[in-house]
Amino acid sequence: MKTTFNDVGLKLTETRKYAAGAYDSRHGKSTIDLTCPFCDADTTAYVWSLAGGGKRCANEDCGALFGSWGCAYKLKSMIHSGNEDDQGRAA
Ligand SMILES: [Zn+2]
Repeated sequence: MKTTFNDVGLKLTETRKYAAGAYDSRHGKSTIDLTCPFCDADTTAYVWSLAGGGKRCANEDCGALFGSWGCAYKLKSMIHSGNEDDQGRAA
């Protein structure tokens, strides 16, 4: 199940600020390194893709969506179901 901007509009998502690394235009393509605030995966995004439809987290199991304003979105249902296996027993 992937997060979409439609879900964001329906307020089904949790919003977290993501950390963006250095802007890189060495190869004539403007990319930026992002760290997913939900799963800590490193994702490289084209700046135009962020400004357009958003960028998907590189972690297939995460499915978070990066927007162009420093915010990432993920379905609340995905966050809670994903955490149960990893942290439920410890808590
Ligand atoms: Zn992620």
